[in-house]
Formats: sequence, C-alpha cells, structure tokens
Amino acid sequence: MTQTASDSALSADGEQRRFASLDPRTGEVVAHHPIHTAAEVEDAVSSARDASAWWAGLGFEGRKTKLDAWRRVLSKRADEFVALISAETGKPADDSRVEIALVMDHLHWASRHAGRVLGKRRVSSGMLMFNHSATLEYRPLGVIGVIGPWNYPAHTPMGSISYALAAGNAVVFKPSEFTPGVGTFLASTFSEAVPEYPVFQVVTGFGETGAALCTSGVDKLAFTGSTRTGKKVMAACAATLTPVLVECGGKDALIVDTDADLVAAAEAAMWGAVSNAGQTCAGVERVYVAEEVADEFIEIAVKRALKLKPGGEPSANLGPITMPSQVEIIREHVQDALDRGGKALVGGPDSIRPPYVEPVVLTDVPEDSLAITEETFGPTVVINRVPNALEGVRLANQSKYGLGAAVFSRSRGEELARELRVGMVSVNAVLTYAAIPGLPFGGVGDSGFGRIHGEDGLREFAYPKAVTKQRFKALLNMTTFDRSSLAGKQMLRLARLLFGR
Ligand code: NDP
Repeated sequence: MTQTASDSALSADGEQRRFASLDPRTGEVVAHHPIHTAAEVEDAVSSARDASAWWAGLGFEGRKTKLDAWRRVLSKRADEFVALISAETGKPADDSRVEIALVMDHLHWASRHAGRVLGKRRVSSGMLMFNHSATLEYRPLGVIGVIGPWNYPAHTPMGSISYALAAGNAVVFKPSEFTPGVGTFLASTFSEAVPEYPVFQVVTGFGETGAALCTSGVDKLAFTGSTRTGKKVMAACAATLTPVLVECGGKDALIVDTDADLVAAAEAAMWGAVSNAGQTCAGVERVYVAEEVADEFIEIAVKRALKLKPGGEPSANLGPITMPSQVEIIREHVQDALDRGGKALVGGPDSIRPPYVEPVVLTDVPEDSLAITEETFGPTVVINRVPNALEGVRLANQSKYGLGAAVFSRSRGEELARELRVGMVSVNAVLTYAAIPGLPFGGVGDSGFGRIHGEDGLREFAYPKAVTKQRFKALLNMTTFDRSSLAGKQMLRLARLLFGR
C-alpha cells in the first residue's frame, strides 16, 4: 500500500480532487494523483511525527537493515521504475537507469556511514576542563519536509530523503507536479520494505501543497528547485522559524585551458550541456576556451553537437523539454544572444520545436546577455573565447550562481578548480561529484546553501548534542559562588601559561 496523506480532500461536488501527470513525449496521461490540501499535509506530518520516534529508536544498525531492505525492493522493481521516470520526464531509458543506479549508491552510502558520522563520540575536554568528560552526537531533527524538482525526480530528492532517513528522521515528500508518480513509487516501495509505520510519506499536488508543507510544523524543509521558488520557501519557513536547506539552479561554466585534451573536453562539454535535454541544475551552460586552442575545440564540439538528436524513443540522445513553459525561456535566451551580436554555430531559434529542442551552440555571446546570466535549462551552450584560462575563471565567477563547474587542463586543473567560486568542480570530466556519495553537493550565492550527500549531507538532517560529565571535583572550580578570591587570578595565570605564548 502506498503511504500517502489521507485521500479525504473533496471538491465541491464531493469528488476527490486529483490531477494528471502527463508523458511529455506524447501528452498522454500517465496517472492521476490526489491534490493534497493543507489539512492533509498536516495529517501526514502528524503521523510522520509518531513514526519518527519508532524510527529513531531503531538506531543506526536497525535503520540500516530497513534501508537495505528498501534498496533491494528498488533493485527488484528497477525496470518498472525506469519506465515510470521516462514516462513522466520523457528522458531516454538509459538516463533513467543511471538515475536509479545513483539512487541506490547514495542510499547504500548514507545507511552505511550514518553511525560513524553521527554516532556518539568522545571529544577532548581540554586543559582547563580536564575534570569533565565530553561527548558529542548528532540527534535526528524529527520530521523532514522534502520538496523536489522534476528534472532528476528520483536522484535529486533522494539526496535529501536517503540522508534524512539514515540520520533517523521521518520524511514527508512533495514531488513536482510533473513527476508525482516517481515520488509515489519511492514512498510505496519504502512502505513495502518498512510496513510498520508511515516513516516516509508522499503528498502530491501543486505549489500550494508544497507551500503547506513549509508551514506544517516540519522540523526542517529541504527544498530543491528554482531560486525563485527557493526564496518563497524560505520566506514561508521564516514564519515558523523552520530551518531550510535550499538547493537551487546554476549557470555552470566549463574552462578549457591551452593544454587540455580537446577531444575529451568537447565531448564533456556537449554531454554536460545537452544530456537530459540540458535540464540539469549543474549542467554546462557556458564554456570559456583559451584563445590559443579555441578554433580546434569549437570544430570538435560542433561536429559532436551536430550528431545529437532529440526524440521520444528509448535510444534517443536527449528527450523532450519536460516542463512546457521552459520552452519559451530557452527561445528567449537564444534570441537575446543573437540579437546582441552572438553567433549560432549549431542550430538557432528553429531548433526549438516543442516538445523537443535540438542542440544549440552559440559563440561570441556578450557577457550581459540572458544566455550568460540566467539559467537556460535547455540543450543550449555558449562557447566564448578568452585570452587564457584564468580569464575564464574570472568570468565564470561573475555569475550570481555558484553551483558547480568543470576544468579541462593537463597541468593545472586543481589550481584552476580552487579559484572557482562554486560548491563543486570536476577536473577533466563533468558532473562527477554528483555521483560520489561521500562528497557534499550544493552551491553558493543564488544556487542556495546547505548540503546534501556525504558527511555534511547527513549532518544537515541532525542537530549536534554536546554532553559533559564531571569525573571528579577540580581544585579550581569557577562555577560556584563559593570560589576562592584567588581562583580567577589562578585560572587566568594557568590560561596565560598554556595559551598566552
Ligand atoms: P520549481 O522551483 O518550479 O519547483 C520546485 C518544487 O517546488 C516543485 O515541487 C514545486 O511544485 C514546488 N513549489 C512551487 N511553488 C511552491 C511554493 N510556493 N512553496 C513550496 N513549494 C513550491 O523548480 P522545478 O521543479 O522547475 O525544477 C527546476 C529547477 O530546480 C532548476 O532551477 C534547477 O536548477 C533546480 N535544481 C537544482 C538542483 C540542485 O541540487 N541544486 C538539482 C535539480 C534541480 P510544483 O511542481 O507542483 O509547482
């Protein structure tokens, strides 16, 4: 049975209010889902709160056993899951397969490492407090609200869900209105493996259902989506002082240095820009290539782009644009770049044939045009020449976003990576950090704050609890009104001796 909030929301004529998720390749209905009201969201959070005590009480080992069982269900039902992700997003089957592989890897990592990262440990109490022992542990927050996007409808929210569950929290998840089936599948497979309590529930609907989750009394809200909605979520959460994790969009750059492997760099640039039809938060939207190698790089990149074709068949290079309203944004960015003097090397406005967009490669695009400053979220990329890689880094850093980046250089990749003001960088590859569960994922600036994945991702869903225990009475006790008149002087003398030199 799928664990959802109660299905009691009725429209004026007494019918359950529902909405359809559509296959963007065909416009056909995939399934209908309830539009959960604010009251139903609160019910879900309330039952999650009851479940959270049981879940937290299982401890790290008990939860690992349950999460392992869930992973096995996901593995067993992987083919069904692939078909569902592709149906709701339109992405090619292999892209859905990769997404599920990443889901399983992250879930495995989170459950394996939660005890080590969050479990109780001794901390040195220091010279001045040597008569006390000190311990630190990270306790679950309670109930986590997760709001997710549609572009990686399983991998992206699971970056919060897996880590929040492993840390001992219950979760209420609101998937995007475009991918409610994927969210429901995740929750129903969880309840197949963990039938005892509604530890992981899904609520479906539109923005209002997400807004209701923000004010429902959850102990933290993990949001992934656009910067615009992220600001609304943060404002709503401020009313109840609900802490937020905000993973937003990006305008990621790829830097090509003079000593780069140009074939590898061009292949990576096109993959980073065009795969998933460019609907990747950390996708490549800008390339800065050192002038010395620019002609050769562009020639290889253009040849590669010309071979990439969109389509609805499982083997297509890229699928459709999942969210119909995004098509106009892509059109606006391409047109604005051309109006401002940019040149199209591959495609142009005619490449936009909803629901598909063919790859568009632009060059000489002014730095103040929309295709450079705003997230395009389509299979388009700007390749601009720069005198050297450092100038590319400078321009990359001018963005208000700061999610990820890539650098191609044989001799100084890590040096250039260090200079980029972003949360994650791949050297001589693209997007690899998202597939390494031990690494934190997140950005700076308009890309948001807080981290999913890795040790930071586990700590994001817990609060640190510090406990001290007096082992014996100290000669110098400062925390009593009975202290001697010399105690303060002696304490300071000791501190100066220990730390003042
Ligand atoms: P949106 O911001 O439009 O929506 C994200 C989620 O928020 C959806 O579930 C949406 O519901 C919900 N929502 C909408 N309005 C509200 C509201 N007022 N209060 C609470 N929730 C609300 O983003 P998209 O779904 O279009 O996703 C694409 C964006 O996500 C891109 O900007 C992309 O860069 C970013 N992203 C960031 C990632 C990261 O890790 N940094 C990873 C993946 C994507 P509904 O759909 O029902 O309106």
